[in-house]
Amino acid sequence: MHSRCKNCLYCSVLQYVSLGDPPAVKGWKRPVLAVAGLALTVCTVMALRFAWERTGAVFFATVSVILMMIALLGVAISVRGCDHCVARYLGRTL
Ligand SMILES: [Zn+2]
Repeated sequence: MHSRCKNCLYCSVLQYVSLGDPPAVKGWKRPVLAVAGLALTVCTVMALRFAWERTGAVFFATVSVILMMIALLGVAISVRGCDHCVARYLGRTL
């Protein structure tokens, strides 16, 4: 773990899902992560409304919820995470 990340909540969380060295820290990654997270959140909300109107769409709805949680975590990291978290999370997603 990077010493300057000691107070960052997401660093310790991402340690469990991200293996190896963190990707390069780039300034453009934070807005990209925020936009991508918000776009994915909107898509999953629409997908859930689509699934809600249909019976037998439980699997579709479950996948949508999982994707929404990934998207919301991305938004949360882009807002509150440090630069290393942003790079690490985006590096795993893209
Ligand atoms: Zn961090």
